[in-house]
Amino acid sequence: MCSNLVKQMVIAFDKQSQPHADTGFKIWCEQNPEDFYLNTKTPKKFTLHKSGCHHTGVLEDGSSPTSNPKFCSLDLGELIKGALEQGAEVVDCGTCL
Ligand SMILES: [Zn+2]
Repeated sequence: MCSNLVKQMVIAFDKQSQPHADTGFKIWCEQNPEDFYLNTKTPKKFTLHKSGCHHTGVLEDGSSPTSNPKFCSLDLGELIKGALEQGAEVVDCGTCL
């Protein structure tokens, strides 16, 4: 099997290591509004949101949506699996889920 065909199942957006993470995250959510992302509230507690949730935050001075790293995926199962593998608890957003 050609490794080029293996898609990245879960995408991480983290302001700490990626200067343009905020923009990348917002674009991903706009392009995939029916999919899901995880907000890492703490290393052991993640919140699951729909990509269209207003909790994605806004792009403006003084606001950084990915100051808490975000994990995005087109595959909800992979997203949850990744969180559990990191030992994190996943809680549904009370607004969008
Ligand atoms: Zn939400």
